[in-house]
Amino acid sequence: MKTVVVTGSAGFLGSHLCEYYLNSGYIVIGIDNFLTGQIQNVELLKNKFKDNYIFFDQNICDSLTDLENIISANNLVVEFVFHFASAASVPHYQKYSLETMAANSTGLLNCLEFSQKMKTRVIFASTSEIYGDPQISPQPESYWGHVNPYGERSCYDEAKRYGEALIYSWNKRYCTQHGIIRIFNTYGPRMNLDDGRVILRMMQQALKNEPLTIYGSGEQTRSFCYVDDLIAGIIKYAQSDHFLPMNLGRAETIKIRDLALQIQKITNSSSKIEFCNLPSDDPNQRTPDLTFSEKIKYVPTHSLESGLKKLLEWFHISKDQNDY
Ligand code: UDP
Repeated sequence: MKTVVVTGSAGFLGSHLCEYYLNSGYIVIGIDNFLTGQIQNVELLKNKFKDNYIFFDQNICDSLTDLENIISANNLVVEFVFHFASAASVPHYQKYSLETMAANSTGLLNCLEFSQKMKTRVIFASTSEIYGDPQISPQPESYWGHVNPYGERSCYDEAKRYGEALIYSWNKRYCTQHGIIRIFNTYGPRMNLDDGRVILRMMQQALKNEPLTIYGSGEQTRSFCYVDDLIAGIIKYAQSDHFLPMNLGRAETIKIRDLALQIQKITNSSSKIEFCNLPSDDPNQRTPDLTFSEKIKYVPTHSLESGLKKLLEWFHISKDQNDY
């Protein structure tokens, strides 16, 4: 049976990735220790896909012997290992800074060793944060970044940079083709409601008619990608021959203050705007150069408006289960 392994499978992106492969008839083995992942994401997939979804509640830094035993006992053929286990939002990775560093170093090494036995390919979820507070815009993959190694974001930025360096060295030593995707800001259903990311937070505030908090002047920019577009890009990359780091996201850029206005409008909210202190090391600009991703025919189709409307729909549907 064709199989993929997804670490961080109870998380936002991990659960969408699992769902794609389950819908395509694969056996999916998910791993998560619920540090920031959510049990309802596992239950949703388990209820829908039953035994095709095998779930391990464990830390990716721990031994993978049980996983290996299940694979050999069932003659499963692992096509890819997607290493997505890591805290990813700013408040979460700051709270779990040491765990974040471990997941992207020891955890990644564990995945690489496992893949060596399975003779398969790892796709590592890297991030636009490896560019730090970039001094050029948009950021092509060739840009080395502008990163503070000793600060509020360094546990995440440097851990992901270490992960990229580990894959580079591994590929060189063992002649493998493990891949790296650099994920830019992404949003959509199943985000963790506590994770503090700007779109989610502002939508929650708007729906409660609380002030929309803008950090700093709101002149800083980001580019936001709807989750379905990002997942389509990840699949295309995994199935391609590419293994060099590739940016994935959406190129259209917006100022955070304009994002607040757009969320106000879409939610029809009477919330006011409140300006708060800018957290340290908050990047002033971020937008992907997507030239390289054209090689895999990656074309995000959702405008910010259509994506925000879908997110809003999800908020309304899940209103009974979640106290947003
Ligand atoms: N931000 C904001 N208000 C909030 C949360 C975030 O103005 O309530 C800003 C934050 O300072 C950053 C941008 O929105 O400039 C994106 O923040 P997020 O935490 O979503 O991700 P980042 O791109 O910083 O990793």
